[in-house]
Amino acid sequence: MAGAPFVYDEPPIHLARMPNPSIHGPRPMPDAPSEFRYKRVLLKVSGEVLMGDQSYGIDMKTVDVVAAAVAQVAREGVEICLVIGGGNIFRGLSKAAEGMDRANADYMGMLATIMNALAMQGALEKIGVDTRVQSAIPMAAIAEPYIRRRAMRHLEKGRVVIFAAGVGAPFFTTDSGAALRAAEMGCDALLKGTSVDGVYTADPKKDATATRYETLTYQEVLAKDLRVMDASAIALMRDSDIPIVVFSIREEDSLRKTLRGEGTFTVITNKAA
Ligand code: UDP
Repeated sequence: MAGAPFVYDEPPIHLARMPNPSIHGPRPMPDAPSEFRYKRVLLKVSGEVLMGDQSYGIDMKTVDVVAAAVAQVAREGVEICLVIGGGNIFRGLSKAAEGMDRANADYMGMLATIMNALAMQGALEKIGVDTRVQSAIPMAAIAEPYIRRRAMRHLEKGRVVIFAAGVGAPFFTTDSGAALRAAEMGCDALLKGTSVDGVYTADPKKDATATRYETLTYQEVLAKDLRVMDASAIALMRDSDIPIVVFSIREEDSLRKTLRGEGTFTVITNKAA
């Protein structure tokens, strides 16, 4: 037919990537970048990581470093969800919250995660990464409300989605928020970026004889009380069969290496070593 050629207003990649699971079965990963182990991941970064060498608050240089690591893998095709803690600013169970109603203190902690999410969004957008913040506590002027299907759509379009305010309820932590969103988004792994390169038999900063586990099962983590993440987060990952990968986000290139199965980290799955 004569006339203007048919032009898609956006590449139809998402159609190939994301068949309707209720019609087509589980999401396949045919176009997963082959050098990466996982196609879609949720990266949990604790607030403490964002402090850098400070004792409180946000160190923008450190935020920039984390943003650059995220940008690198996002540009190579890995779909990234981010959950950022708030411990660098406020924790419901901290000394600063003593005497305060626990639920109120926890809401303050959730607000801290929103501040961190906005800092991370700024750092990502500054280097050209399309980013959306979705908050579990609606805050229309600064972030989208959390809407699962909308978040999926953002990921398909190659945007980094930052989930703020944890699960949106007190008495939880951002670890639980990270596990919940990882399950909801159908992530292939939950990556926990910390300041140590995996799970150790004891705190490696205090005990020189501590050794790193290559692999662990969720059950071992719970039984040994290894404090990788909250028990509720571990249990949800176990029930959803989503591997947890603990690695150091402070090392250069570590996110990319970990996603490629290189470098040092601990993988937690249902399979015994
Ligand atoms: N918080 C909460 N519900 C949530 C997520 C977070 O009440 O779903 C509060 C809680 O007080 C927590 C604080 O927000 O201590 C900051 O989150 P978290 O301690 O998980 O941050 P991180 O340790 O990862 O920096």
